[in-house]
Amino acid sequence: MSPRSVVRTLPAHRAVEGDGFVVRRPFPVPGVDLVDPFLLLDHMGPVTHGPGEAVGTPVHPHRGFETVTYLLAGELQHRDSLGNEGVLGPGDTQWMTAGRGVLHEEGPTPRFLAEGGLLHGVQLWVNLPAAEKMVAPAYQDLAADAVAVDHPADGVTVRVVAGSAFGLQGPGTTRTPITYSHLTLAPGAHVSGPVDPGHTVLVYPLVGSVTVAGLTLAESELGVLGPGDSVQLEGGSVSDGGEPGASSEVLVISGRPLREPVARYGPFVMNTRQELLEAIEDMRSGRLAT
Ligand code: FE
Repeated sequence: MSPRSVVRTLPAHRAVEGDGFVVRRPFPVPGVDLVDPFLLLDHMGPVTHGPGEAVGTPVHPHRGFETVTYLLAGELQHRDSLGNEGVLGPGDTQWMTAGRGVLHEEGPTPRFLAEGGLLHGVQLWVNLPAAEKMVAPAYQDLAADAVAVDHPADGVTVRVVAGSAFGLQGPGTTRTPITYSHLTLAPGAHVSGPVDPGHTVLVYPLVGSVTVAGLTLAESELGVLGPGDSVQLEGGSVSDGGEPGASSEVLVISGRPLREPVARYGPFVMNTRQELLEAIEDMRSGRLAT
């Protein structure tokens, strides 16, 4: 197997969403609109909220892609124009296919808002191919206990949410080939696994650092991997607030590039400018999420 090495690093920058929701965002950034087929990665926290402090994002639309929200700590809820609602806790994933359109709000549960606590999570935007941009909206609530888990080596925990990775099959259904994994790696612990040679592969340390085929990524520094058919990871160190020997938390995400034109405006991601104008018009006239 030929291991993939890091060919590009994208350090996360700070961005503010919704009602003051602070995130770390490795992309999009000026010069990097997307890493096909992925459109955005937002890292929420880890942050400890006092009572009454947690914030969310008020009602907003989406069309033309999927949002994948994975929580490591805390509690989030969502509610949408189609009457769907759900609560996410630690280890839960919500895989939302916006398709032709939803209007939704995302934020803390009333209990989490009242009591406060540690919030830590990540939201990934996955593009939809042209043929599926206008499909009916759909949700997959993937509970923590449905996620495939293994301990392939000392100090290594692998959780696979979707796709086939590290010898596991995740519960999530994807519209195009995608894998989504969360690894917990003790310092110096090694793990490797096969990846599809045709996939874009991203490695993102949520907590601590990780070494990918010899190159170390700092916490919240996204690595885009080059060609190859495997990924090799070694746990690094947790400098910020971690106890000695604390494990790194790492996302490993892969997907087949769509290689289609992307026309993007805020929460709408289509193929052409005309389709974007239609999305904006549908939003104005109340037809986006009907
Ligand atoms: Fe949203």
